[in-house]
Amino acid sequence: EPRVIAGDAEPDDAVDRALRPRRLSEYVGQAPVREQLEIFVTAARRRGEALDHVLIFGPPGLGKTTLAHVIATEMNVNLRQTSGPVLERPGDLAALLTNLEPNDVLFVDEIHRLSPVVEEVLYPALEDYQLDIVIGEGPAARSIKLDLPPFTLVGATTRAGSLTSPLRDRFGIVQRLEFYDESDLRSIVERSARIMAVGIDDDGAREIARRSRGTPRVANRLLRRVRDYAEVRADGHINGQVATAAMDMLDVDAFGFDVMDRKLLMSLLEKFEGGPTGVESLAAAIGEARETIEDVIEPYLIQQGFMMRTPRGRVATRQAYQHFGLPTPARFES
Ligand code: ADP
Repeated sequence: EPRVIAGDAEPDDAVDRALRPRRLSEYVGQAPVREQLEIFVTAARRRGEALDHVLIFGPPGLGKTTLAHVIATEMNVNLRQTSGPVLERPGDLAALLTNLEPNDVLFVDEIHRLSPVVEEVLYPALEDYQLDIVIGEGPAARSIKLDLPPFTLVGATTRAGSLTSPLRDRFGIVQRLEFYDESDLRSIVERSARIMAVGIDDDGAREIARRSRGTPRVANRLLRRVRDYAEVRADGHINGQVATAAMDMLDVDAFGFDVMDRKLLMSLLEKFEGGPTGVESLAAAIGEARETIEDVIEPYLIQQGFMMRTPRGRVATRQAYQHFGLPTPARFES
C-alpha cells in the first residue's frame, strides 16, 4: 500500500502535471535558487548560448523535475527526459544526445545511478560537446567521434554524496533544494486548489501545509485526498475542521508524520534506547530498505530535529521522546 505522504512519485501524480509551475515566477519558495537561476538563464539567453550544466539535489518531491522543465521553458528550448537506470548502454545516451537541437536541455533524473560506462561517454559530451563511442565488436570494432550541438545537462539526485567526483565537477551550476516552510506550502496548496477549482479557506490550507513534510508533492497529494473527503463527508469546501478530520483518517499526524515515521522513531527510541544505532539495524528492525530510510523517511525527521545523524549512528533527540510522551533519559539533563 503506497504511503500517502511518500515523497516519491506515483501514477496518480499524472494529475500533478496540471499543477506544475511552468515559469520561474510561478515556482514557489527556494528564493536563492530562483534568484541565481534567473541571472544565469537570462545571461545565457542573451548570449544565445546553452546554459551551463545544472545539478539539482534534494529529497524526493521537492521540485527537481519541475525546476528542470522551468529551466527549459525559460531558455525557450526543448527538454528531453531520461533517468540514470534507463541509460544502460553508451548507445542509449548517444541516441538522445545526437537528437538534441542547439541549447536543448537533457534532463537525467537519478543521475547518481548512471552506469560507469555511460558516465565515461558523458564526460567529453559535457566538456567539449563531443561523443566518443565504439561501435561493433571484436576486430570489426571501431571508434567514432561525433560533434554534438551545445546542450545543457540538468541532473537530479536525492543523494549528492553518491555522485562520482569527476561527474560532479562537470556541473557549473549546483543547486540544493531545501524543505519548504509552512507559508510556501500554503501558497502551493492555495495555487493548486485554484487550479483544481476546490474551495479552501485559510485554516484548511494551513492545516494541509503543516502536515506536508515540507514537500510540495505531499501537499498536492494531501489536498487531493482532503478534497475527496470534503466532497463525501462535507459540502465540498475545505476548512480547518474538514482538513484535520481527513488527515486524521489518513493517519497523518499534526507533524505530518505517518505510520512509517512513527515506526522508525519508536524503534529508535525503544529497541535501540535512543541510539546511536546504524541505519542497517534500523532498516532491519522496521522492515524497510536502507535507501528508503536514507532518502525518503529520515531527511525530514532530521530537519525537524527528531533525530540526528552522527558518526556513530542515528540518535533520537529530546524532542522525539517528548513527541511520544516518553520520559527523557538522564543524558539530556546537563
Ligand atoms: P522531484 O523531481 O524533486 O521529485 P517534482 O518536480 O516532480 O519533484 O515535484 C513534485 C510536484 O510538486 C510537482 O508536480 C509540482 O506540482 C509540485 N511542486 C514542486 N516544486 C514546486 C514549487 N516550487 N512550487 C509549486 N509547486 C511545486
